[in-house]
Amino acid sequence: MNFKINKSEEIYKEALKYLPGGVNSPVRAFRQVGGNPIFIKHAEECYIYDIDDNKYLDFCNSWGPLICGHRHQDIIKAIEEQLKHALSLGIPCELEVELAKKVIDSIQKKIPTIQKIRFVNSGTEAVMSAIRLARGYTNRNKVIKFEGCYHGHVDSLLVKAGSGLATFGQPSSAGVPKSFSEHTIVLPLDNEEVILEAYKKYPDDIACIIIEPIPANNGLLIQRKEFLEFLRKVTAEHQSLLIFDEVISGFRVGFYGASGYYDIYPDIVTYGKIIGGGLPVGAFAGREEIFEMLSPDGPVYQAGTLSGNPLAMAAGLAQLNLLTDDLYMDLEKKGQYLEREFNKITESKSLNFKMIRIASIFWIYINLENPPRRADQISSDSMKIYAKFFHHCLKHGIYLAPSGYEVGFLSSPMTLNDLDKFLDVVSHFDV
Ligand SMILES: *Cc1c(COP(=O)(O)O)cnc(C)c1O
Repeated sequence: MNFKINKSEEIYKEALKYLPGGVNSPVRAFRQVGGNPIFIKHAEECYIYDIDDNKYLDFCNSWGPLICGHRHQDIIKAIEEQLKHALSLGIPCELEVELAKKVIDSIQKKIPTIQKIRFVNSGTEAVMSAIRLARGYTNRNKVIKFEGCYHGHVDSLLVKAGSGLATFGQPSSAGVPKSFSEHTIVLPLDNEEVILEAYKKYPDDIACIIIEPIPANNGLLIQRKEFLEFLRKVTAEHQSLLIFDEVISGFRVGFYGASGYYDIYPDIVTYGKIIGGGLPVGAFAGREEIFEMLSPDGPVYQAGTLSGNPLAMAAGLAQLNLLTDDLYMDLEKKGQYLEREFNKITESKSLNFKMIRIASIFWIYINLENPPRRADQISSDSMKIYAKFFHHCLKHGIYLAPSGYEVGFLSSPMTLNDLDKFLDVVSHFDV
């Protein structure tokens, strides 16, 4: 096994001269696992190839969008077709209507609150706009978010807080004035009590509760269904809105996302990742009455030069057309296989690694008896062990997320044979 990354090392040095940290998004820089990032030149189905010609089975999948793997032919064809017509218009085009119709008509059958949609260019933008809309609609200020849920780099949501009772978030990023997050209430997940306390304290000023219904940005913190149902109930009782941030879970745990999985109807849903088929698309959707508040119909301003970009719409549409029941069933089977075999191997090796999974999202938790439901249950020590595991995998042709807090994604081109390659690498790992 001669694993060499000389060219990547060289380009990384060059990158450091021009790009802060050598990257355009922080986790890519390998800071949480040590070492330097690899540079990819080509990707095909479930494999990626770096500039040193190493080949890796890809469980990152661009952090979630690529449910059908890299360069699916239908998506490539749709983009090529659109290339003949226009790259960007800033004037309406039919593809925007087609993608909107595809999302609304299919999802509304299952989630009746999904009635109107607006496209943006990223998950962050979708969340930022959804929060503004919720505040505009309710005419209230405060937002409840949960520790361990990531909603993009929206200023007012870049807050975490110690576990325990309601605390007003200290910004967890420099450059965010405290006043920007003074209306953000950060609560621990999995705790009904603290939410009731927040409503007691601010009965008339909580605009919305926002949650990743399947929190997947700080480990995979699968919630009790009753907790999510409680959020639906408590928001309705207090005339606040419930926002499900489905940027990861949307179209991933099934076409209807987590809303469909749990059969809960949020007022607003945010989408990203899969909805663009690999191009930059985000969206927020929800009840018509709420969306009447959005410009140009209503007073809540929201806009975008590249929003509804025809190439991105074409890619998104082709992607959503690929998402059949069969595809989800196939991914579920592969996921079951991976989870079962992974846990068998680690158990037989007395390695305290376990895989938890929902549909085609998986996460490895280390030195914990049970899968955690709250962010504070994950120890930073386990991250050091993950770093070792990550590099073992990388060296042997498996690309996992370069952080133990991040989940992995299966893609439809992966075969059981591909998964066996990963399992074999796992079986040769020792802490
Ligand atoms: C990825 C993600 C975002 C941010 O999306 P970007 O496209 O990276 O801006 C927001 N919310 C959740 C749940 C995400 O997983």
